[in-house]
Amino acid sequence: MNISTEDILRELGSIVRTDKDTLRAYSSDKWFASALPQAVALPSSAEEVCRVLRFASRFGVPVTPRGAGVGYVGGCVPVHGGIVLSTERMNRIIEISPEDGVAVVEPGVLTADLQSACSKLGWFYPPDPASRKESSIGGNIATNAGGPRCLKYGVTRSYVLGLQVALADGRLLTCGGRTHKNKQGFDLVGLFCGSEGLLGIITRATLRLIPAPQARGALRATFSCFSDSAGTVQQILQTGHLPCALEIADAFTLDAARRHLGTDALPPDARGHLIVEIDGHRDSVNHELNELRELISSHGGTQIVSATTEEEIESIWELRRGFSESLKATGLTKLNEDVVIPRSQLVEFVNFCTSLREESGIPIACFGHAGDGNIHTNIMIPRDDEGNERRAEAESLLHRLFAWVLSHSGSITGEHGIGLAKAPWFPSSIGSVAMDTHHAIKHALDPTGILNPGKLNL
Ligand SMILES: Cc1cc2nc3c(=O)[nH]c(=O)nc-3n(C[C@H](O)[C@H](O)[C@H](O)COP(=O)(O)OP(=O)(O)OC[C@H]3O[C@@H](n4cnc5c(N)ncnc54)[C@H](O)[C@@H]3O)c2cc1C
Repeated sequence: MNISTEDILRELGSIVRTDKDTLRAYSSDKWFASALPQAVALPSSAEEVCRVLRFASRFGVPVTPRGAGVGYVGGCVPVHGGIVLSTERMNRIIEISPEDGVAVVEPGVLTADLQSACSKLGWFYPPDPASRKESSIGGNIATNAGGPRCLKYGVTRSYVLGLQVALADGRLLTCGGRTHKNKQGFDLVGLFCGSEGLLGIITRATLRLIPAPQARGALRATFSCFSDSAGTVQQILQTGHLPCALEIADAFTLDAARRHLGTDALPPDARGHLIVEIDGHRDSVNHELNELRELISSHGGTQIVSATTEEEIESIWELRRGFSESLKATGLTKLNEDVVIPRSQLVEFVNFCTSLREESGIPIACFGHAGDGNIHTNIMIPRDDEGNERRAEAESLLHRLFAWVLSHSGSITGEHGIGLAKAPWFPSSIGSVAMDTHHAIKHALDPTGILNPGKLNL
């Protein structure tokens, strides 16, 4: 049924805004697509979220959930119009309980705000998307966000104990709970983690906290060839070390960084680079750093730098952040893909990207989370002689990239999700039976399809 903006305003009153500036501000995320909604709902409570959903389901109005809008796949873009429902006003940390090892939060809390509140009490909420200063807990749960520390600590799902979710018909579901183990029925909490706003709107989360590690340490090293750095990753793990982060970079990324940062930390013969971060008890961190230093050196690592103070560790991560900035500074548009491959395929994967680059003349840069095979693969879209982006060519490379990844038991996304950006590849990436299962779950929870329509090809 077509519903007018006046009807929306009459029914939902001060929960919604319909002025042009607001509609524009909620039309996109960090991907390039955008679409204007009819209204933006800014509820302050779960009851207000339910009110919006009761109205929307009665009249068949699309509702696109939105956290902080810093997703990379167009997940919160309202491609079917209707209402964007932003959780930004639901931003209270309700409770942090060291005794139970839990935090209870509203979905609009920013990830970094929760982390710093926990850290003041000596507790730790590990999930660490690079966007954590801007992204919301609700968005992190809905995309099952990860980050460098996933290698040791796991993705967001590992820290979600309980959820309150507003269903499409406006009922409030409570699942999971406050305990660190819970085997009552199906894993409904898991179902909503990574559901990208298609199954319900998360209105409250109970999260698992762990004691903060006493100390951290880090190392960085350069290698004369990429395969030595990938081989060192395998050696580190096979000799019993479990770092919290193991970050690798290829020669193309290092060349861009050397040019942009003008740093002598990356000599011209550096064709591979590794960052290793560990944490734990202070004595064991120091001991392990020494062992890792020797191991890296014996596997071809040079220019090895160890860091034990916060300042030194931060300067290593500053260099890692510089990789991304250096690629942006090339002036080319970056298609940032977050594919995952089995770790043993790392060298073959980078060789494949090099051959794609040589064949097409389109730059491709690979760096990222080597420990779990989640490599940020940046296809850098050049311009033709008329100054137009060679986007169609770059996108045809994406087909080949994803086909390679899938044929090597990989996944087309490890962090960002499917959203709009990867929807065309989604059905073939999971197969027809898994696709039918997705349809059945979607239909059971959202029979009229009002929640985040147009995403995941569902
Ligand atoms: C610079 C940068 C670095 C990044 N680094 C990482 C990284 O390291 N790891 C990583 O995983 N991601 C990363 N991302 C991607 C992004 O930040 C994450 O996907 C993040 O979880 C999005 O959170 P958000 O609050 O902005 O969600 P949004 O972008 O607002 O929404 C994302 C999806 O979640 C849904 N959603 C949001 N809130 C709710 C809710 N309460 N209930 C139900 N559905 C909801 C939306 O409908 C949408 O489908 C990065 C992005 C940027 C821009």
